[in-house]
Amino acid sequence: MRILIAEDEKKIAAFVRKGLSEVGFNPTVCHRGDDALHLASTESFDALVLDIMLPGRDGLSVLRELREQRNRVPIILLTAREGLSERVEGLNLGADDYITKPFSIEELIARLRAVWRRLSGEGLSLLQLGELTLNLTTREVRRAGRKVELTTREFALLEYLMRSPGRVHTRTQLCEHVWDYHFDPGTNVVDVGIQRLRRKIDDGHAVPLVQTVRGVGYTLKAGL
Ligand code: CA
Repeated sequence: MRILIAEDEKKIAAFVRKGLSEVGFNPTVCHRGDDALHLASTESFDALVLDIMLPGRDGLSVLRELREQRNRVPIILLTAREGLSERVEGLNLGADDYITKPFSIEELIARLRAVWRRLSGEGLSLLQLGELTLNLTTREVRRAGRKVELTTREFALLEYLMRSPGRVHTRTQLCEHVWDYHFDPGTNVVDVGIQRLRRKIDDGHAVPLVQTVRGVGYTLKAGL
């Protein structure tokens, strides 16, 4: 998850960057409002942590401009304890949430996850096949409600298969789309990847979802 942090107090910015990196997010820090607006307008982020009092352009003005551009990036405002009117204005302008300084990194992470959960609850980022679900926002995979832990590559493979259930993919196609390189017939990287995915997704379930189409490739479908 790429997260843009716009905060001019260097200590707070560093603390947030470190805390978010530690749980596997990918943070970018800037210290000015105009830089935040430029970055958020030209690059793709999964969330913006936006201080209100910023040099260059204040946070509420960054927020207003982004929403006028129809940029729907989730935004969490950082506000001072006494800033009630700013918080209200921020929410009215389309902020997703706010957090009051001083805050703990755990609280910020919980609020980020809650915002993503709300968005995925609107069906923006949930792929589903039978009892298997893959959440593109939280990167959580579940089968019959039970969480399945996948590596980054396995997740990418499953996501690719889930985007076109029932379609048969050759090893070459999977290799190009998921591994990002052209197939070397000497390697069995796809077969190994499929085996691992199958073990995690299908073991212990009566109906296998990852299916081999002999002589052709693989497909993902519910039912034979
Ligand atoms: Ca500030």
